[in-house]
Amino acid sequence: MNARDILDKELTYLPGVGPRRAELLRKELGVVTFYDLLQHFPFKYIDRSRFYRIAEIDSEMPAVQIRGFIRGYVLEGQGKGKRLTAEFADETGSLRLVWFKGVKWISGTYPPGKEYIILGKPNVFGGTYNIIHPEIEAVDKITGRKYSSLQAHYSLTENLRNNFITSRVISKLIGIILAQLGTGIPETLPQYLVKKYRLASLSEAMSRIHFPDNLKEIDQARYRLKFEELFYIQLNLVKQKSFRNTKTIGIIFDKVGEHLNSFYKKHLPFELTDAQKKVIREIRRDMKSGHQMNRLLQGDVGSGKTVVALMCMLIAADNGYQSCLMAPTEILAFQHFNSINGLLKEMNLTIRLLTGSTRKKEREEIGKRLLDGSLDILVGTHALIEDNVVFRNLGFVVIDEQHRFGVAQRGKLWQKSLTPPHVLVMTATPIPRTLAMTLYGDLDVSVINQLPPGRKPVMTMHYFDSSRETVYGFIRKQIREGRQVYVVYPLIMESEKMDYKALEEGLVMIESYFPAPEYAISVVHGRMPVKNKERSMDLFKKGITHIMVATTVIEVGVDIPNASVMVIESAERFGLSQLHQLRGRVGRGADQSYCILLSDNKLSREAARRLEIMVSTTDGFEISEADLQLRGPGDIEGTQQSGMPFNLKIADLGKDGALIEYVRRIAGDVINIDPSLESPENLIMKNRLEYLFSRQQSWRMIS
Ligand code: ADP
Ligand code: MG
Repeated sequence: MNARDILDKELTYLPGVGPRRAELLRKELGVVTFYDLLQHFPFKYIDRSRFYRIAEIDSEMPAVQIRGFIRGYVLEGQGKGKRLTAEFADETGSLRLVWFKGVKWISGTYPPGKEYIILGKPNVFGGTYNIIHPEIEAVDKITGRKYSSLQAHYSLTENLRNNFITSRVISKLIGIILAQLGTGIPETLPQYLVKKYRLASLSEAMSRIHFPDNLKEIDQARYRLKFEELFYIQLNLVKQKSFRNTKTIGIIFDKVGEHLNSFYKKHLPFELTDAQKKVIREIRRDMKSGHQMNRLLQGDVGSGKTVVALMCMLIAADNGYQSCLMAPTEILAFQHFNSINGLLKEMNLTIRLLTGSTRKKEREEIGKRLLDGSLDILVGTHALIEDNVVFRNLGFVVIDEQHRFGVAQRGKLWQKSLTPPHVLVMTATPIPRTLAMTLYGDLDVSVINQLPPGRKPVMTMHYFDSSRETVYGFIRKQIREGRQVYVVYPLIMESEKMDYKALEEGLVMIESYFPAPEYAISVVHGRMPVKNKERSMDLFKKGITHIMVATTVIEVGVDIPNASVMVIESAERFGLSQLHQLRGRVGRGADQSYCILLSDNKLSREAARRLEIMVSTTDGFEISEADLQLRGPGDIEGTQQSGMPFNLKIADLGKDGALIEYVRRIAGDVINIDPSLESPENLIMKNRLEYLFSRQQSWRMIS
């Protein structure tokens, strides 16, 4: 049997794994085949050459290894609390081993009086040390077996442990698989890359990662496996990007006409920043290339992405094509619609808004005009992607705040025209370079790294709840000077009820400190009817209300230059990127703006660190790097929806940034020479990509 067939076998074919264990492993770890199990990499190693004496133990220690004798067993407790305990002793003292499950089996398998090696984490309980569900092995069984002194430890679930599937069991199973494979696991990288980049072979890496002889072997094995994992992700992205930029057909926008010219000369109310100009140039180059543009526009909140998008819509119009802009919420869509309408009001273009609450009559008219081509720009929410929205000739699509849309949703817009429209994805959530390289690695990236002139950085302060009075005093002063204030409460899905309670109670308190008629307050939250929301926002926008009490519905896009104070309640409950977004709501006018983070007096270390970062910098990229370090990429907002290709088995998008850049360059070199991986030495990579991404590919292509 060849190695590939062995690797694809299901676990039930492994000695020691029956249907029940196989099912458990599938359910708990998602492991189905031999290969899956090999890919369940250890997360740490325990030095099994080190033995402890019972007298040396303290409860701060992680798992320790002890050699000693079981003196005898006792059954204790009743019902659910029923447990088996054993006295375990060496010449320096004794401790208790405890089992809640498998009572009969344990006492039968490990008779008292024999010498055993146990491994487990000691806890203090009732004045003695306990080890619950230790790993245990008779000393006489160990002699003669190859026993790596560094024992691999695998992440396991409670349920697995309760069923005696320990790290050692996993190790054993993996050992059997490796033995069956004999000389080797077929290489998954071409020889020339293995040589050139001095990698361990896959075979070596697999056996060393599970059974290392020393730390150096672990490092070498890890490097090889991470390299491969990240390399194939990048190769896939680079290959798709290269395909799109050279093989797809795109609409050619080669005219610069009346719309863009007259807007630029007569209606643009400010000078574009250099960064904005650069991005517009990049987009125009794409639009002329004859291939479909797929570009990500990153820029901090307030950097002026909207006007860039708008000018590109004018280019589309000049070339006789329609555009649309999709925003994640009704409020945002409404705002975009208003600002675009405002900027284009003296121009001869038809702009409409389409959201879930658009009336049927209006909807029908929009439908008609979309089809006869008399509608130039359609702004809206995901109402835009419904099947009954049909354009005459959609040429340019802008998606704002991308992380709120799934990749599949993006895809539906593509399908709305015969030749795929150019696509600009805008995000105000700066993400670290190397993360972007993976999440949006198939897109071209433009960055606006400059704020419009005259903006003063927002001053950020952190106060504890106990200093609330001080904060309110400050707010009063600001309102006296004519400024307006946001007070934002967290909104977390799981406890929606509680969150509204916080908002309602907060509102009562604020009303008591800021009484009518001297002060007027707007309230906005997600549960309000859209009409009321809009009215509330409008009052604040017009400066009629002084304070806006809101949940995070105002997180993105709201643009009210006179609002100069952002108070964030329970700031410790927000993530960094959300705090950054919220802070971006102020600092849009000419006055000095403030962001006040109010938090509980007691903070976790991580929460304290987050608030510290917010106080120390306003740079979105710096914040996103810190976020990645603190939380890991899985938690970064939007990572899940953004179409992470799969769970990484060994690499870490947060920590392996340098390696990501490195393998991306290597992938680029490979694709430059052989874009379709057709040459004999590259075929292995082509096959590998198909194996890894065939499912994913099919939904990427429609997107
Ligand atoms: P973003 O969407 O990137 O957060 P916006 O496009 O909403 O930012 O722009 C924020 C504000 O700055 C808007 O009021 C916009 O009119 C203004 N603005 C954009 N570009 C410039 C510029 N070059 N100079 C001055 N103001 C600008
Ligand atoms: Mg915006």
